[in-house]
Amino acid sequence: MKRIQLKWDLEDILEGKNWEEVFKKTKEQVDKAEEWTNKLDPKMEEEEFRKLMLFLENLEEKLSRVGHYPYLKTATDQKDKKAWQLREKADDLGVEAGMKTRIIDQWIKGIAAVNGKKLDEKNAKRLFGAVKDLEYKLKRSREAAKYSLNQEEENIILNKDVNGIERIKELRTIIETEQEYQLRVEGEEERIVKTQAELTEMVRSSQPEVREAAYRALLNKFGENLDKYWLVYKGIIKDWVYESKLRGYQSPIAAKNFGNEISGETVEVLLGEVKNHREVFQKYFGEKARALRNRKLRRFDVYAPIGRGNSQKISADEAIDLVLEAFGNFDPGWQKAAKQIVENNHIDYLPSPTKRGGAFCSTVGPKIDPYVMLNLVGSQRDVSVMAHELGHGIHSIMANKHYPSTQHASLVLSETASTLGEIIIFDRIIEGEGDKERRKFLLNERLTESYATVLRQGYITIFEEEIFNRVSKIDQDGVNQLWTDNLKEQFGDEVEIDEIFGNEWAYVSHLANSPFYCYAYSFGQLLALGLYKRYQQDKGYAGQIRKILEAGGSKAPEEILKSAGIEVSKPDFWKEGFEVIEGWREEFERDY
Ligand SMILES: [Zn+2]
Repeated sequence: MKRIQLKWDLEDILEGKNWEEVFKKTKEQVDKAEEWTNKLDPKMEEEEFRKLMLFLENLEEKLSRVGHYPYLKTATDQKDKKAWQLREKADDLGVEAGMKTRIIDQWIKGIAAVNGKKLDEKNAKRLFGAVKDLEYKLKRSREAAKYSLNQEEENIILNKDVNGIERIKELRTIIETEQEYQLRVEGEEERIVKTQAELTEMVRSSQPEVREAAYRALLNKFGENLDKYWLVYKGIIKDWVYESKLRGYQSPIAAKNFGNEISGETVEVLLGEVKNHREVFQKYFGEKARALRNRKLRRFDVYAPIGRGNSQKISADEAIDLVLEAFGNFDPGWQKAAKQIVENNHIDYLPSPTKRGGAFCSTVGPKIDPYVMLNLVGSQRDVSVMAHELGHGIHSIMANKHYPSTQHASLVLSETASTLGEIIIFDRIIEGEGDKERRKFLLNERLTESYATVLRQGYITIFEEEIFNRVSKIDQDGVNQLWTDNLKEQFGDEVEIDEIFGNEWAYVSHLANSPFYCYAYSFGQLLALGLYKRYQQDKGYAGQIRKILEAGGSKAPEEILKSAGIEVSKPDFWKEGFEVIEGWREEFERDY
């Protein structure tokens, strides 16, 4: 294909108008929300309700355009003062819109009465049925209202949270950020390491003594502050337990499951399968120990590299060509969508001193192709990141027949295309790689990554379920013991776990910052692997995968998957994902 343009073009967001103009038009719409409030009536015509929904969805899209334009500008130029000003104006308008549509929102949920009348169940059903694409979302918002308290109580909780539990979490982050680490590598002088990032890079070092020293520096420090971390974590757990009871959830994890739009039974089946398949990873760790010429793998060596990476530089053009070709082989629909993003100049490829780090894909709305930001440095890893973010973009384009609020998939499905993208490109690269050392390197990376997302994250959730049940009966030593037992179960006899890893729970910030979040990683990764397994058996299955992506967030995840023949509430499907990992493990073993 023709050479790519390296910077993205944001003008599509404004459709050729200038920002101020779009802002003014949006503001006019925000002011119209009040007119709609007067028309709310449980007996209203279905057509009238449909128009109301259209109004709200259009407003959401306009606000998204107004906000995304300066947001994306600041992403590539953090010093663009003008863009920051526009962002603030957009944020303020967003808050204003939220306030003005709040009463409509609460009326729909059946919480608030307007003109003396609440929206009853029967009329809600009738009206929601008139806008098929939004029906699921509307029904769910009414269901969510069942777990709401009255307005006054909600306000108290909101205020107490902002100045209470949220402050405690901030305090935890401050303690963590202020930590400095004493690093003692064998045969070197002790030195102070100021950032965690430096240490987490070192645990992937090719030298065993560096990996061990990095872990010891990290976990010793968390050990010194363990009493503080436990005090914070205990407070967070107790607050969560209290509030979830107050709202009527059946268990602490149920509140999270509801938010993820997934049933508790499915989550338990998933976690059960993660447990049942821990041996796949244990066997891999056994082989990894042999590859490192050790009798047994130490926990310090879990992320050790094996073999030799490909140090050849790859250009943005080459990376795009490789990804497009691999996607095209998988499904021409994928290639077409990805090409659309490339050819419309919706990707920003290279780093610059004022550009944000990392990579992301941003969806503005169904009528605009998504934007992808990358920071390519020319390494082989770039290709994988690019495939991931373009995967998100493909998902977004495939779901663009929906309204703005139903285009986005729910959390557990949101990483499906991105993870698949990574798997597709991995398969493509390993297929063409004849060098044995490089094959080992790639397979080891893939297996380590799978361990970290599937097994580790699943076991973090298993740990959470236990500690939430026992919080009032446990002390600081008990937490370390519980964490160590959890590690012993996931690693089995294949990995030697030094005592210092008992402190590791304090380092896992997700535990404190977003309880029960981690299983979503296992879910997303195993789902993508299971889909890929089906595709490997029957190339025609790409059509079913497309169907899943096209559904966006218009239905419950379990229902969307069912229409592609997948039952996530039964163990069978999850086994398929582990078969792919087992395949990689066997190849890794064969390469010896
Ligand atoms: Zn992602």
